[in-house]
Amino acid sequence: MAEVLVLVEQDAEGGLKKVTSELITAARALGTPSAVVVGAPGSADGIIDGLKEAGAEKIYVAESDDVAGYLISPQVDVLSSVAETAAPAGIVVAATADGKEIAGRLAVRLGSGVLADVIEIKEGAVGVHSIFGGAFTVDAQAKGDVPVFSVRPGGVEAAPQAGAGERVDVAVPEQAENAVKITKVEANVGGDRPELTEASIVVSGGRGVGSAEKFSVVEDLADTLGAAVGASRAAVDSGYYPGQFQVGQTGKTVSPQLYIALGISGAIQHRAGMQTSKTIVAVNKDEEAPIFEISDFGIVGDLFNVAPQLAEEVRKRK
Ligand code: FAD
Repeated sequence: MAEVLVLVEQDAEGGLKKVTSELITAARALGTPSAVVVGAPGSADGIIDGLKEAGAEKIYVAESDDVAGYLISPQVDVLSSVAETAAPAGIVVAATADGKEIAGRLAVRLGSGVLADVIEIKEGAVGVHSIFGGAFTVDAQAKGDVPVFSVRPGGVEAAPQAGAGERVDVAVPEQAENAVKITKVEANVGGDRPELTEASIVVSGGRGVGSAEKFSVVEDLADTLGAAVGASRAAVDSGYYPGQFQVGQTGKTVSPQLYIALGISGAIQHRAGMQTSKTIVAVNKDEEAPIFEISDFGIVGDLFNVAPQLAEEVRKRK
């Protein structure tokens, strides 16, 4: 069976992001998954076992000091050079901002089609898209020898299946004169909280929170649970919370074990980004709020009464 190249996603500490296992699972529909690690020297050492467990049959390792200093181009260069020798049946990356750009550039280089933001890959280079807030799914086929897919984080359930994980070291090609250099890096506003799309618990606030200052009630519950903080678009548009934390059709898609919605009505565009969460808890003072239709546990009440009590009870049990 032909190889399928999967670009490995690592977190800031160098650990494997859970999306990597989802990508490896998705890639199996096309062939044998081969993980591709592109990072600083030594960055693959701690994740080889995790990649084997997730199902990588082969692990290409491209390490260089250049990787952290350039935007996107090292990943594109490594993937396209491995593709030349491995002749894979496809390339799979995460549908993050970076991943989508990598996918687009790769497709141009390889002269192949690209399918962006898919939630499943099927045999025959078919990608499944979820559109109009999840109201429709569309199958689309990419042409070309090496179709490129960006897969939505949380869109595919990871099904680890041990692989041989044979390590193959490859070079990071020298960066071109016009490659974009990173000149400064600043830590994200989210501080120590887990990343939204990776977190196993997400606590989100909506317009019902009422102001940016009062969002501390959402953050406090999140911190008690070790959760990430999310926000509805109305909360973002009202200036209560930064846009990078928006959950929904035009924000991030999350699929945590537990999603707590505080003061969120449950519009279809919000649901599109969180409805695959394993357990959904909603707090809303309107018993008719549509969020209750998809909630496992619903609390009709004022979030400013409920959330602090919930945080307090969690603290007591720690
Ligand atoms: P509201 O709908 O105003 O709901 C606020 C809720 O808070 C109400 O149900 C109210 O009963 C409750 N409430 C108020 N005070 C309290 C209190 N003290 N305690 C408890 N409950 C209280 N939305 C997204 O979220 N994400 C997206 O990605 C997104 N993309 C969109 C894309 C398009 C093309 C369009 C047209 C819309 C999109 N929207 C998106 C917007 C979406 O349609 C809704 O407007 C938005 O989700 C509403 O946010 P909300 O639930 O916070 O606000």
